[in-house]
Amino acid sequence: MEKLQNFIDGKYCDPIDDQWLDNYVPSTGERSQQIPASNVKDVERAYKAAKKAFPSWSQTPIETRSSILIKLADLIAADLDKLAKAEALDNGKPLALATKVDIPRASANFRFFGNAITQFASEAHENLASDSINFTLRQPLGVVGCISPWNLPLYLFSWKIAPALAAGNTVVAKPSEITPVTAALLGKYCNEAGLPAGVLNIVHGKGPEAGQAIVAHSGIKAISFTGGTTTGAAIARTAAPMFKKLSLELGGKNPNIIFADCDFEKMLQVSLKSSFANQGQICLCGSRIFVQEEIYEKFKAAFIPAVKALKVGPSLAAGIDLGAVVSKQHMEKILSYTALAESEGKLLCGGQQLQIKEAPNGYYVAPTVIEVGTTRCRLQQEEIFGPVVTIMPFKTEEEALALANDVPYGLSATVWTSNIDRSIRVSKALEAGIVWVNTWLNRDLRTPFGGVKASGVGREGGFEALRFFTEPKNICIQYKTNT
Ligand code: NDP
Repeated sequence: MEKLQNFIDGKYCDPIDDQWLDNYVPSTGERSQQIPASNVKDVERAYKAAKKAFPSWSQTPIETRSSILIKLADLIAADLDKLAKAEALDNGKPLALATKVDIPRASANFRFFGNAITQFASEAHENLASDSINFTLRQPLGVVGCISPWNLPLYLFSWKIAPALAAGNTVVAKPSEITPVTAALLGKYCNEAGLPAGVLNIVHGKGPEAGQAIVAHSGIKAISFTGGTTTGAAIARTAAPMFKKLSLELGGKNPNIIFADCDFEKMLQVSLKSSFANQGQICLCGSRIFVQEEIYEKFKAAFIPAVKALKVGPSLAAGIDLGAVVSKQHMEKILSYTALAESEGKLLCGGQQLQIKEAPNGYYVAPTVIEVGTTRCRLQQEEIFGPVVTIMPFKTEEEALALANDVPYGLSATVWTSNIDRSIRVSKALEAGIVWVNTWLNRDLRTPFGGVKASGVGREGGFEALRFFTEPKNICIQYKTNT
């Protein structure tokens, strides 16, 4: 069986203790590869390589760093088909999604930060009262840790690594053990792009072992983490007393608020996507749908048949809308939530595991809609992270806001209305880091990205990410006013 390797100091290598984990293809349930079950020794090896590479990389001119990252973006784009197929098979998602979204975005991340670093500037403050000038340097932090989840594997891995490298840091990174394949391929592209050995080191393994070793390492200055809220809290418990910089992008339970005055057809098409894209495994999915009562029955009459018509199948099958969910364990978790429909609401469609003839052992869940009468239930309060949405009617704007905000999370929200004043009022009052009005997942990489409440701390995206990965140092010089 094929074995993936760690990528340390510019070379692929086996884990020091020769321990391995099995990787599976969600579409079929088959074992695909073995991956390193790295531990604290492998992380130390990666750290040493990163530490050795830091002095030179941090002093490399910005133009050189920029052109290496842009070359990396080009190499990823040139291998789109190969990478998209690898991503789709490893994650379970439809090949079309990996081809249109995941891999182009991974390439765009490196290109964006390759360009952004050439425009990144710091500030100067002249103080005439004391005849002095302050200027602020933005210096790279040193060796930083990047830890990413399984839902958008290369997309989110590169979203962290690209700004860290652009800013002059060296990196020890861990992809999710559940979707390691495209991250494992990245090392080859780094070498081809001319990234010096040790600047990026990729260690595979389980979160509580390899991930925890990165978080707890005293030499690693910052942790950029995307994943679940519980894991984020565990990471903060370890890293905060060490005074590490922390960026935590955590779970979401996002409201999709539909007012009666919206463009119904557009809302319907986009709501299908915001509910079920990537099998509902996007932190930004609108899993709680609230519909104004005037159009509630009309919405149900249009939405439910459209959901039932969604085609579910293996990643590489033609014409599918949804693929498999990422693992057997995750499928079981999702089904434990759909079972709550009996006690907490009314199942309108889906709710069960799907048997696909050509892939009987794959992890398929039928797109599910559950009608609920309250936000005070597990279906509305806990992140399911699968193809499951709740729907509930509301009467007024005030009620919609109260329902939308009644949740521990605050990542994103979507609002459908043709009333511009309402769109601004509601956007301002929503407890979320990102609000979309009459659109969803419409991303401009320059904008701040992140959540409030249990959805995390810190912001990624644009210069926010470059600020995170640099330390501001103010230098104050007093000058003589007379010659
Ligand atoms: P997890 O929190 O389980 O894992 C995320 C990453 O952290 C994985 O690489 C995991 O490794 C690692 N990890 C797990 N435990 C530890 C630990 N103790 N110390 C260090 N690292 C650890 O999340 P999932 O992979 O299940 O991803 C789904 C979650 O990610 C959802 O909650 C989703 O909302 C969230 N997410 C948030 C986004 C945002 O931008 N806010 C975007 C996308 C997803 P391993 O998998 O190998 O165990």
